[in-house]
Amino acid sequence: MPQSHSRIIAQLRQLVATPSVSSTDPGWDQGNRAVIDLLASWLGDMGFQIEIQNVTADGNKANLIATLGSGPGGLVLAGHTDTVPFDEGRWQSDPLGLAERDNRLYGLGSTDMKGFFPLAIAAASAFTAEQLKQPLILLATADEESSMSGARQLAAAGRPKARAAIIGEPTSLVPVRMHKGIMMESVRVTGRAGHSSNPALGNSALEGMHAVMGDLMAYRKELATRFSNDFFQVAVPTLNLGCIHGGDSPNRICGKAELHFDLRLTPGGDNATVRAEIQQRMQLLAAQRGLEIELRPLIADIGPFEQGAQSELVLLAEKLTGHTAEAVAFATEAPFLQQLGMETIVMGPGSIDRAHQPDEYLELDQIQPCIALLQQCIRHYCL
Ligand SMILES: [Zn+2]
Repeated sequence: MPQSHSRIIAQLRQLVATPSVSSTDPGWDQGNRAVIDLLASWLGDMGFQIEIQNVTADGNKANLIATLGSGPGGLVLAGHTDTVPFDEGRWQSDPLGLAERDNRLYGLGSTDMKGFFPLAIAAASAFTAEQLKQPLILLATADEESSMSGARQLAAAGRPKARAAIIGEPTSLVPVRMHKGIMMESVRVTGRAGHSSNPALGNSALEGMHAVMGDLMAYRKELATRFSNDFFQVAVPTLNLGCIHGGDSPNRICGKAELHFDLRLTPGGDNATVRAEIQQRMQLLAAQRGLEIELRPLIADIGPFEQGAQSELVLLAEKLTGHTAEAVAFATEAPFLQQLGMETIVMGPGSIDRAHQPDEYLELDQIQPCIALLQQCIRHYCL
């Protein structure tokens, strides 16, 4: 095994051993700062300029922007440093201890996506700052698995800027240029409670909700006609009525009901427009029925993502991998990096089928092809 291989394993072992769970559940949520500090020390030793951007005021969650070379243009290699929570009892080995067996590296985040960083570092180690005509930027973010607050912070700060960005989420090294967006919304219907024996004594929020649900299902059909995209395995935007709460007793007119739904829009549509249209429809129903209907987001939304088929980065990645760029069913930080003006794709080692599971692993045979691929991209954009 070459010397770089043992360094990759050693670095991944340290990254996996440094817990950095992000979760909307405060019982699970941790900072990622220790992972950022590890990456910063390795990249600093290699001559990268280090900038740590706090995502929380205490700096416990942070992004890293590490730059080799200088000037405009260049290439960003990006990844998130957090992992999802884990169920230790369902793992065959310690999730925080990297285990090598069956030509695989097992560990929490091995594929999603701490494993990308040692490979990006190995790829970068072939270059010196003096060689680079345009900068190579390693970007490591916080909180991708929960709020995407790290990527939102970067977009707000307008940094980093380069010509192109590759996000190393697990795609088995196949270039990905499209994914759907994610919105999660609540509809709260407020009517008037009263005794069930006389409908005139109240105004049923549940019957109002029945109309709301019918309307959302009609709107879903309309979205399918407007924004169907055969690039996706599920070609249409999805709208799932996920849960509902309301009422307290059969003999009482329901005064309040609340519905939560998720909506995953294909590229071509845009979250803000869709939310405004739903808002308008809800207002119409509210006026017709004399109810109060309030629409509000449950999470900060993620936009649908599409990088043009003819863009330089997509054509380069297709040529280097021999794969036509695809669409995936998961969301990434890509729309935020694209917002910064960079051509963006998702392309990284390991399979998404292994992510968010017990016994997550990265195949050893992904390592050298990934390093070679990243080096070709660095040569194209930075030399
Ligand atoms: Zn991920």
